Amino acid sequence: MTSTASSPLPLSGFLPVASTHVLQSQRPQSNNLSPSSIPNSSGSAGYSDVPKSAATSSNNTPFQAPGFLSNSGSNQNSNIQSPTPNFFMSNPLVLSPQVSANCSAALRDFHLSDQNSGHNSPAASSDTYFDEDDMEIDMTMEDPFGRNKMNPSPPSHATHANINEASQKIKTIVNARSTAETRNACPALHAHQFELLRTLGTGTFARVWLVRPKREYRTSGTEFYALKVLKKKDVVKLKQVEHVLNERMLLSVSRPQPFIVDLFASWSDRENLYMLLEYSPGGEVFTYLRKMRRFSQVQTQFYIASVTLILEFLHDRGIVYRDLKPENILLDARGHVKLVDFGFAKRIGSQETYTLCGTPEYLSPEVIQSRGHTTAVDWWALGILTYEFLCGFPPFYDNSPFAIYEKIVQGRISFPASLDETTRDFVSRLCEADLSSRLGNLVNGARDVKNHPFFFGIDWKALGEQKMNGPLVPELSFPGDTRYFDEYPHPSPDFEPYRPESHPQEENFFRDF
Ligand code: AMP
Repeated sequence: MTSTASSPLPLSGFLPVASTHVLQSQRPQSNNLSPSSIPNSSGSAGYSDVPKSAATSSNNTPFQAPGFLSNSGSNQNSNIQSPTPNFFMSNPLVLSPQVSANCSAALRDFHLSDQNSGHNSPAASSDTYFDEDDMEIDMTMEDPFGRNKMNPSPPSHATHANINEASQKIKTIVNARSTAETRNACPALHAHQFELLRTLGTGTFARVWLVRPKREYRTSGTEFYALKVLKKKDVVKLKQVEHVLNERMLLSVSRPQPFIVDLFASWSDRENLYMLLEYSPGGEVFTYLRKMRRFSQVQTQFYIASVTLILEFLHDRGIVYRDLKPENILLDARGHVKLVDFGFAKRIGSQETYTLCGTPEYLSPEVIQSRGHTTAVDWWALGILTYEFLCGFPPFYDNSPFAIYEKIVQGRISFPASLDETTRDFVSRLCEADLSSRLGNLVNGARDVKNHPFFFGIDWKALGEQKMNGPLVPELSFPGDTRYFDEYPHPSPDFEPYRPESHPQEENFFRDF
């Protein structure tokens, strides 16, 4: 059944943005995406590394404890599909494969500290670790640099000599840094203090690693973090300096929001920028969705309600997120959402902004038409997300970004018969091209969204305080468990050094990272 979500916009004056002008996020796709009307395109090489497989490493049913509402009923998706074998890129990305290779190579400096500390070297390709607290952790330890031969001496600022022994525990530093009063007095962190365990994911400009502090820097063997590493060279080459600085700044001001991943610390060295993040072990909601094909009403309600709270929080502070999609929503150990990747987020207040960025399927018409956009784009994207959660595919879908943009501007949404009237109304009112009628963009802002009958039965206070578990609780055997993450190929070594002296202006910005 087809209904028109919003008046189709006239195509005259519609100049779909050439894909080369849009700063696109990638979308991995699975080839069991339904419905059958969706073409099964085989993709071209993308910018970032594509996971070796979409499979989680576990054959176990990966979830527990359905139900967060009293009337939640059972998990309709308990019959989990077998993992999707292939991911591919549906939409060719703008950026060149050469840049891709450069960006995925990482962290030339990490191994240097092994020579310094003399133990716990991640050089072994596979190892079993026994921690102080006798917890056995069996992990493949990566040596991502092929023991980089180019740079045999430690970076001068990262020697052990200048670290105060009494306060060298990462946890202590991180805790102290979390208050404004002590932040500046804390020692800085350095990459050599961490062991790289494995790649968790790659974003458009970054590689995210599971790390733990080396033995002398940790308080226990169960201390794990996600370390997002961005190569300065790529950030500069791709003109992403402003976006990266925005990401760091906005993540630090978003700390009190429990559904946004916590940024503990950030720093830079000669080659890279680093963000030390809370590790969210449940993996991407995207992976669950592709395995289960679609979420139940109850599951969707829970995730969309959580995202609504995030958007309310960000918009109250004048921040637009601009890259909502299942790939950027992770689950924590209790099944609550954690929003990651603030690369496109920006503090705009009540102003309009014009940068064309986002993921094609999630772009709103005003972005495509370069009309200037506001925080209202996130409410549009929430409608797309709701639809994708319930149907398993987004409402505007095609092989090429251009064709997607055309469909978005036409604004016709086909709803499967399984979606009830309330849900259709919710999606249609969010995916409303007319900004003066779009739900969330009206005088009452997020309150209108929260009051929509789609959320009937939600206890907003309890949700915000995380009083209940999420509808899908990951099964984890220890805090560094990575069974919900795909495997990624090793980054290729990058022998082209970044030359800070050639980029004085950018270096100026990086200094305070
Ligand atoms: P990003 O560049 O921030 O989009 O991150 C790329 C991917 O890395 C994400 O889609 C996640 O799969 C993974 N990732 C990012 N941050 C975290 C985190 N804090 N915990 C676990 N995985 C993460």
